[in-house]
Amino acid sequence: MSEASDRVIVIGAGPVGLTLSLALAQDSVPVCVIEALADDNFLEQVPRAGTNHPATLELFERIGLYEKLEPRGIIAPLFHYWDRHQNKLIAEFDHAHLKDDVRFPYVLQCERIKVVEEALKLAKAHPNIEVRLSTTFTSFEQNADGVTARVTNAAGEQESIRGAYLVSGEGARSVVRKELGIEFEGFTYPDRTLNIEVAYDFRKHGYTERNYISDPDEWSNLFHWKGPPDRWRVHFPTEPSEDPEALQQPNALQARLRKLIPNKRDYDIVTSNLYTVHQRVAKKFRGGRAILAGDSAHVNSPIGAMGMNSGIHDAFNLAGKLVKILRKEAGEELLDRYERQRRHVALEHTQAETIRNKRRLAEKDPAVRRRNHDELRRTAEDPKLARAFLLRTSLIESLREAEQIA
Ligand SMILES: Cc1cc2nc3c(=O)[nH]c(=O)nc-3n(C[C@H](O)[C@H](O)[C@H](O)COP(=O)(O)OP(=O)(O)OC[C@H]3O[C@@H](n4cnc5c(N)ncnc54)[C@H](O)[C@@H]3O)c2cc1C
Repeated sequence: MSEASDRVIVIGAGPVGLTLSLALAQDSVPVCVIEALADDNFLEQVPRAGTNHPATLELFERIGLYEKLEPRGIIAPLFHYWDRHQNKLIAEFDHAHLKDDVRFPYVLQCERIKVVEEALKLAKAHPNIEVRLSTTFTSFEQNADGVTARVTNAAGEQESIRGAYLVSGEGARSVVRKELGIEFEGFTYPDRTLNIEVAYDFRKHGYTERNYISDPDEWSNLFHWKGPPDRWRVHFPTEPSEDPEALQQPNALQARLRKLIPNKRDYDIVTSNLYTVHQRVAKKFRGGRAILAGDSAHVNSPIGAMGMNSGIHDAFNLAGKLVKILRKEAGEELLDRYERQRRHVALEHTQAETIRNKRRLAEKDPAVRRRNHDELRRTAEDPKLARAFLLRTSLIESLREAEQIA
């Protein structure tokens, strides 16, 4: 058995596991990161998050990650709400309203895969981090002195790894959460979202880098994903009864895009996929020395770009507390504060905001739609209201509120 009484074992080299590991290592805590993927398939992950909010960029900067990501991303100060029914811009929000609140008054459009690629390089180079790729976590045990993680290692052998604490950064299917018997409370939307990646520059139609498009029949999201060469992502709702294969036939994809924005020629479609959206929060974020962070603790709709961001906020909150506990400057009750703070954020901010976002985009009642659009317009036009709105959408308000929780 590999021993280390003060080490933290982090399961998952996703954005949450890696940023947590880097934050801990920076404060001299030894970390062992367990990741099932290998060097030769690590970059072949299904594309997911792409928007990094201003507060997250500040956290990236603390661990030396921001400077690696900025050149690989797109700086996007603006986002739009559109009314697809009338093909009209409803409101434009400018993160410049946050210039006195944050160092980076913009979001960085930079894919999750680039975040983990760069973070993994930093982790591999860090003397306090042992990265174990091709290693699958299977179960764990704990006692008063520490935890033992059971893994299947790169050689296919069963191995036990001992540490002081175990953090699940495994994502939504967390084995740790299941072993702790913690309920994942919430619901799953019956409809799936269709994501189409297309090589096209939608700015020529007046769109900006991030666009939320309301429509009673077919809401949509449109994001500048990467470039040059330009790659955009377009999200559409689907009916639960629709056949996944038929939905993704080239003609069907072209028809959806053309209905959104008529184009004489075929769109250059790069790829497409369907995903299911869950709104769930774990009933508890810890069981003894085993702690949940990121998607293992909460999952939400991507409308608003809050899943990865709030998970990374969990990681830094937790890192600060584990450092104090391991230095014996605080007791384990500090981990209960982590749960109180971050569960509050998951329920009252990420869940509430993303549910509201989807409802607003899909609203069918013409009177409610008009009221929603008027409110967005008024908010965007008033600098004070716009700042308050952006503090909420960029999760800064959630961080400030969490700080007030004892
Ligand atoms: C289409 C889409 C778009 C999105 N867009 C955004 C966005 O713009 N902004 C945003 O903030 N969020 C967004 N999200 C959500 C975001 O992708 C997730 O919240 C985020 O990836 C969660 O990070 P994580 O590190 O907790 O887990 P994951 O990213 O799921 O990483 C988990 C890691 O653990 C590893 N692992 C799992 N089980 C084991 C095991 N047993 N042993 C060893 N390793 C294991 C996995 O291989 C993986 O590397 C989006 C999601 C989707 C589906």
